[in-house]
Amino acid sequence: MIDLKSKIRDVPDFPKPGILFKDITPLLGDVKAFQQVIDTLAKRYATRQIDYCVGIESRGFIFASALAYRIDAGFVPVRKKGKLPYTTRSVEYDLEYGTDKIEMHVDGVHPKSRVLVVDDLLATGGTAKATCELIEKSAGTVVECAFVVELEFLKGRDKLKGREVFSLIQY
Ligand code: AMP
Repeated sequence: MIDLKSKIRDVPDFPKPGILFKDITPLLGDVKAFQQVIDTLAKRYATRQIDYCVGIESRGFIFASALAYRIDAGFVPVRKKGKLPYTTRSVEYDLEYGTDKIEMHVDGVHPKSRVLVVDDLLATGGTAKATCELIEKSAGTVVECAFVVELEFLKGRDKLKGREVFSLIQY
């Protein structure tokens, strides 16, 4: 087994001063490490009857699509506002300063479908919470939210309380 933490690079002050960015590109570029991440997630979710892996723009797409392929689920993108071409539903969520909006196609997930939310990293949990709300607006069921990295000190789990949360690497 590879120590996945050794494949996450800290980049200080990116994209702005004071942020310690967790760069997952070394992990993605290492065939064994990337396989280990997808294999571990696939093992966890293979028998959970997941209909869709919903990936959060943009690094969430990488893990959600590879995982979807492995567990026989569809892949559905959740994107920042204005990027999806067809009719969308949207949810607004709070940022440190101001608000942002994420969107999903109205027919992205079907009513009563079982959905796994996937992103590279859980920080404050605002994006993942908004994604869960989007799925629920489409009458989908969020089975769990899965992250490669969790920044525990930002307490994203608290924001997602009442939902199942799983992460592979914690800081
Ligand atoms: P949040 O809504 O605060 O949980 O932020 C989660 C989103 O922001 C994820 O899509 C992450 O990719 C990104 N993100 C937030 N903080 C970091 C960080 N320190 N390093 C890398 N990505 C981050």
